[in-house]
Amino acid sequence: MVDFFDLVFSSSAIDFFIEQTNLYAQQQAGEDWDCNTDIVEMRAFIGMLFFIGVHRLPEMNNYFSQSWVLSTPEFSKRFTRRRWWQLWSNLHLADNTIPRPRPGQPGFNKLWKVQPLFDILLADFQEKYYIGQNVSVDEMMVKGKGKNPVKQYLPMKPIKRGTKIWALGCSCCAYMYNMQVYAGKVEGIVENGLAYRVVTDLCEPHLSEFNNHVVYLDNFFTSIPLSRHLESIGLHCVGTIRANRQEYPQCLKDTVLLRNLQTGEFHTAAVGRHIMSVWKDTKVVSFITNVLSFFLYLVFNVVFNHEGYIATITNVHPAKNNSTVTRKRKQDGTQTLRTSPSCVKDYNANMGAIDRSDQMRQPYGIDRESKRWWIRIFLFMLDIAMVNSHVIYTQWFKTLQCP
Ligand SMILES: [Zn+2]
Repeated sequence: MVDFFDLVFSSSAIDFFIEQTNLYAQQQAGEDWDCNTDIVEMRAFIGMLFFIGVHRLPEMNNYFSQSWVLSTPEFSKRFTRRRWWQLWSNLHLADNTIPRPRPGQPGFNKLWKVQPLFDILLADFQEKYYIGQNVSVDEMMVKGKGKNPVKQYLPMKPIKRGTKIWALGCSCCAYMYNMQVYAGKVEGIVENGLAYRVVTDLCEPHLSEFNNHVVYLDNFFTSIPLSRHLESIGLHCVGTIRANRQEYPQCLKDTVLLRNLQTGEFHTAAVGRHIMSVWKDTKVVSFITNVLSFFLYLVFNVVFNHEGYIATITNVHPAKNNSTVTRKRKQDGTQTLRTSPSCVKDYNANMGAIDRSDQMRQPYGIDRESKRWWIRIFLFMLDIAMVNSHVIYTQWFKTLQCP
């Protein structure tokens, strides 16, 4: 397993990390610094951070306790309390003495304290694994109050205060392939909005058009201009869409149509090659896709092949092209099949990559509070590297067909 972790947290990442930590310790006049750290010690340090994730104690000092309730002998065998705190407090990922643009100046990066390690790790993630055809984009949150320059406040989310991370992951295995920290508005790039920029940044230039990737998105991200752009770079998309989006077909907003929609029924319309369906599940939901099934391709592409021409098909249900999704009855828990546009099934099956990565990460997450805001992002990246290496590990044994 360690070998698999080394794949995604390679020697270039760890060497950089050691160099910056030693440099910072010396810059601090070295009073509380016994000696420079090296690869053996730093690997042990990172290993112990993962140990902390598995075996959680209220405080870091507890790991050096002799009490029979708290004691973790392996921990204190490897590190003295003094050395552990030296390493922890001198951890560093960027040289403070290099002149950088200041706030307000062009090229200023709020994330300069973590960006170098972020870049090295993402390059490792992308180089070491081929993701599958279906990918999804979503947000993740890293806890973090205090003096965090990229802090977000999201009152409706389980983690209300912290750093927002945009992520692109593989739908089949939840491997995190590309990520970006949300650092607020980017000056000068506003023409298509935040969601458009995030998705294109995460996809380009990493996803190849030759692999026929399908990007699954929720209604925060989707829009017709984005679907059009993804198509222009050889990518497909499927997602839920809000009715107030630019170019959303007027006919699908029709109040009489929506009122009369029965559960399981849907209506479909197209703007060029972008197909939108409004479907009655428990509530009315709208979907967009530019993955044309053969049936829709024939109808829309042959008959209405002018970009911008809006066509509608009503009451497609129950044509052969449709599929069904399973829904549980509340009263007795029995399952029923509900007719749906074919993209709904695909969407449900492929949208959850980021949530699944979160679920794999959280039980053993290393996350600790720290006064240095970027430490939690660093620990988050260690967690992601661990989850990714676990994905490679399981896929490797699947390929070998070992039990
Ligand atoms: Zn996968």
